[in-house]
Amino acid sequence: MTPNTNYRNLKDSYLFAGIAKKTRAYLDANPGAHLYRMGIGDVSLPLCGAVIEELHRAVDDQAQKSTFHGYMPEVGADFLREAIAAYYKTHGVTLSPDEVFVSSGASDELGDILDIFGRDKTVMIMEPAYPAYVDANIIAGNTVIRLAAGEENGFLPMPHEIPTEKYGAADIIYICSPNNPTGAVFSAAALKQWIDYANETDAVIIFDAAYEAFIEEDGIPHSIYELDGADTCAIEICSLSKTAGFTGTRCGYTVIPNALERGGMNFNRMWVRNRTTKTNGVSYIIQRGAAAVFTERGQKEIREAIAVYKQNAKVLMEALDAVNITYFGGKNAPYLWMKCPDNMGSWEFFDKLLNQIQVVGTPGEGFGACGEGYFRFSTFGSPEDTAEAAKRLKMLLG
Ligand SMILES: *Cc1c(COP(=O)(O)O)cnc(C)c1O
Repeated sequence: MTPNTNYRNLKDSYLFAGIAKKTRAYLDANPGAHLYRMGIGDVSLPLCGAVIEELHRAVDDQAQKSTFHGYMPEVGADFLREAIAAYYKTHGVTLSPDEVFVSSGASDELGDILDIFGRDKTVMIMEPAYPAYVDANIIAGNTVIRLAAGEENGFLPMPHEIPTEKYGAADIIYICSPNNPTGAVFSAAALKQWIDYANETDAVIIFDAAYEAFIEEDGIPHSIYELDGADTCAIEICSLSKTAGFTGTRCGYTVIPNALERGGMNFNRMWVRNRTTKTNGVSYIIQRGAAAVFTERGQKEIREAIAVYKQNAKVLMEALDAVNITYFGGKNAPYLWMKCPDNMGSWEFFDKLLNQIQVVGTPGEGFGACGEGYFRFSTFGSPEDTAEAAKRLKMLLG
């Protein structure tokens, strides 16, 4: 028997391991030093009251014969699918609850969804990118086309920039907007160009909407289905991780429109078949907690937590503005993507911040080769640490 040799093609994930190693070395040499950690992509605020109360109630349900739940539907509980469909309605998108699949998170789905496609697909990934897209496709044996984004296109590449003569057309296109790591967001008009391109070339877009709740400007789509034509070419993957602090609680959702078909096969039906084979659904308790996010009180409370992260973003943006550093993001996403000063490399800048001001960020190079020379700050840290980090950045770079 031969193992999946595609694993040999994976590059070691040295990004977070590299950060951990360097920070450990610093702390060994400087015992007791306080580090200002602006690198993490994990939330720091606890779950909101509405969710906590509902989780407790659901635990009690499981204690009584009359309210006990065993196996849940593999595709998600009706009450949660309906709550999510109603949430889409607030963005002007009409979905049938059977187009919504409850999941245990976006990362799982971004790779698992490849089961819907045939083998040996060509996949286009816009870099800098969330590393999981590339790795899941390498494991699946797909050919990965990296479409490099940069300052010249505001980190938002458009279909006409694809070097088709070199690669031919893509079968699958990953789009993440608001983007991790750059914080860039596609306008409705720009996203529409990708939808038209996908429909013309028969490609399918996998739209990662993990950060939709951070959008604050008008005219930016929260869902790809706000735009005409998306229901015949796009799968949307979303998560409560960043929206509602579910990184450790685990719940997300995937939308596959009934209209999405290729080769006479219906993707929604295929995914029902896939889920009923490969999962037994998300736990009743967690789905109850997730449904509380979509209540009026839940929405109010999660917006309060997001406002704390947005205030962190503002503090960091003011600091970078004050020292004339070019950066992207911050407004509609919990990340700032800055250009390293003096043409420094991203690891070189990482070392400088760690050693001189004890601020830890994420080197852009870890998100793809075109991220070299850039640096990511997360706004998920505590307001106190963020304020101190901003002050130190201003002093160092001023
Ligand atoms: C954090 C994040 C997710 C969410 O992943 P979960 O598995 O739901 O926690 C998805 N996509 C991107 C780009 C992310 O940064």
